[in-house]
Amino acid sequence: MLAGERMIAPGYVGQVLGTADVTELDRIIQDAIERAYRRAMVNGEMKADAREKYGALGAALADTHLHPIPALEDTVGAVYRVDPRTVDLGEMVRYATDVSRQVAAIDPRVKYNYVGALTELSRELFVSTEGARIDQSFALTQGTCSVVTVHGEVSQDLYDAVGHQRGWEILLDGATELPLVFPAFRDFALALAREAFGLAPERIAVSSRLAELQIKTGDGRRAMRTLERGWALAPHPDLAALYLKASGENDALKRVGIVRKLAAQKPDDLESNLALAHAALEAGLWGEARRYLDAAGGTHPPVRVCRLMAEVEERAQSDQAKVHEWLARAATAPADKAWRCAACGAQHEGWHSVCESCGAFGTLHWRAPGTYGHVLPPELEPRPALTMNSGG
Ligand SMILES: [Zn+2]
Repeated sequence: MLAGERMIAPGYVGQVLGTADVTELDRIIQDAIERAYRRAMVNGEMKADAREKYGALGAALADTHLHPIPALEDTVGAVYRVDPRTVDLGEMVRYATDVSRQVAAIDPRVKYNYVGALTELSRELFVSTEGARIDQSFALTQGTCSVVTVHGEVSQDLYDAVGHQRGWEILLDGATELPLVFPAFRDFALALAREAFGLAPERIAVSSRLAELQIKTGDGRRAMRTLERGWALAPHPDLAALYLKASGENDALKRVGIVRKLAAQKPDDLESNLALAHAALEAGLWGEARRYLDAAGGTHPPVRVCRLMAEVEERAQSDQAKVHEWLARAATAPADKAWRCAACGAQHEGWHSVCESCGAFGTLHWRAPGTYGHVLPPELEPRPALTMNSGG
């Protein structure tokens, strides 16, 4: 609702309805409109007061007007192959239990896991005084997995969710149509559990600090062994840079051979291929650099791969169109891994035990953001079957 005397402001009312409210719907909507109106009027008065009180800053406050858009009438149907209303609760329990058992079976160090599955159908009606009348339904199906692994003194908690506005089929088969692509939920949950082992964030920091110390004391060989062990568990670009430093090698071609030895600790890994591509690029081996980047990128190369491809084409003096094509791809490519806080999502330059943005302890992980949809807390409740939005 938009209303006001001295200034126009919005007033909102939200209420969850169930089937028991259907017979009272007219009265409920009438009450909601009156409450929204009173709120808009008070809001408008407060806005006018603020405008008078805060001088130049207050002048930034303006009446709330709707942007003129065509008022549409439409019925939008839900998209699903398996109707959420037909999925048997017993089958859902069996499925979630089975995924949870498989996650636990990956390794005895998986000490706890939580698997949740939900599938639902929502219907929303949107009407406005300008004539909009949209009756929209959608399915929502989601799988959540949370894993706690314990390595010695360190425990690691990792959780993520996959979901889509589709039916139960997306958990069984995954989503295959762009822009939302993710694997079957079982594979997603198993990959998450495996990732939890490589993650132990302090591992990268420990490897690099120990290696730095060993380089400082002149023991380059030991530093290289430290970094090889670190790379096998959790590869990271900082480790590759230190490895080259520890080797003391300055010849660009020989440096490619040295990086090959490091990459062999975890072949086929994105970081291994990227480190090799970097070294090949520095040595002027364009064909080899392209080959490593192709291997690193797969069908959806992330930003770092696209940028490095552009650099290879630039330095190889290829057609400028190729350089531009890779730069354009970088703009829409999946985001790179970075140190991200699992609690607040903030991105950091390096690993710290405490997140500088939200103060959480031990929440920084080296990972890509929202790789498989958004992260939801495990305690998320399914939404009610009927939601009323009174807009305008
Ligand atoms: Zn944080």
